[in-house]
Amino acid sequence: MEKIYNEDLKLISREYDVRTLFNNEFERFIIEERIDPITNFKVRINKSIKSKPRSYGRIYSKKSKCPFCNPEKETPDFEFSKKIFIGDSVLFSNKYPYGKYHAVLVPNYKKHVKSFSQISYLDLYNSFMLIKEFYEKIPEKDYKYIFINLNKGFSAGASQEHLHFQILIEKEPTNYFRIYLDKSNKYFDKYKKFFIEDYFNFEKQLNERIILDGIIKLWSSFAPFRNNELIGYIDTFGIFFLSQNKFEEFIKTLYKILITYEKLYENFNLVIFDTTLLRESRSYPIIKISQRPLFDIGYMEICHLEYVVSSIPEETAKEFKENLERI
Ligand SMILES: [Zn+2]
Repeated sequence: MEKIYNEDLKLISREYDVRTLFNNEFERFIIEERIDPITNFKVRINKSIKSKPRSYGRIYSKKSKCPFCNPEKETPDFEFSKKIFIGDSVLFSNKYPYGKYHAVLVPNYKKHVKSFSQISYLDLYNSFMLIKEFYEKIPEKDYKYIFINLNKGFSAGASQEHLHFQILIEKEPTNYFRIYLDKSNKYFDKYKKFFIEDYFNFEKQLNERIILDGIIKLWSSFAPFRNNELIGYIDTFGIFFLSQNKFEEFIKTLYKILITYEKLYENFNLVIFDTTLLRESRSYPIIKISQRPLFDIGYMEICHLEYVVSSIPEETAKEFKENLERI
């Protein structure tokens, strides 16, 4: 839908539906995307859900059963595929999808695990194998933006305490990554180099915020949106192009980062934007991690899109590096 006042004032939206299969019955979700005419930011409206159940009492009550401990019966299948199991890890359709291809990935469903210290390296390895199987099964080949997301802890937005990733495979980049990719493309046209790589090399010269310089390049954000925010990239054109050795090194490093991060900062959000399916993306896969204590955003973040934090990036880098080395 496009309602046009003039060429600079348009109200644009598009709608699509997602079907999941739960207990032998199809459930249909209608999702509408609208573009805010002021910022051009995309928002998603899930029209089929009035209010997602998010009763903390129910979550904490011992009587309530955790669906992620019993995925075979308690979680939905995709319309195009059954749920996928590898080892103790499982991937299934999100019960309340807000994307066309929106999966939940539980790294270990055999134990009711709440943190990365309770899962193994193998669980994380198998989790990434599930992501590969998932994108290979997607019937529409123009969905190429792979986002591996995580809400760790209720204060970070998780609605189930059982540790899980959310995988979104999208046709277009999200707002933040659209801004990033525009920057990256313009930078490449001008300098014939990758912006994120130059950003890292510049940080390396300055040597104030660098944490890791291996298969994952990691530093603390110069201007963080949230406390103790880390940003980085994976040294490859796509995670699933890595050789077996390099892939294992990537999983080991990521596992160490996640365990260190939760030990220091407890609850957090994470995104890994993978470029495996993108040709000429002019970026390596990106990783971003931000701490999320309870009640940490307010009018500045919501009404002004301006972030207020209290952690000093140079101190975060020092603290994180010291703790990472101890693992
Ligand atoms: Zn559970």
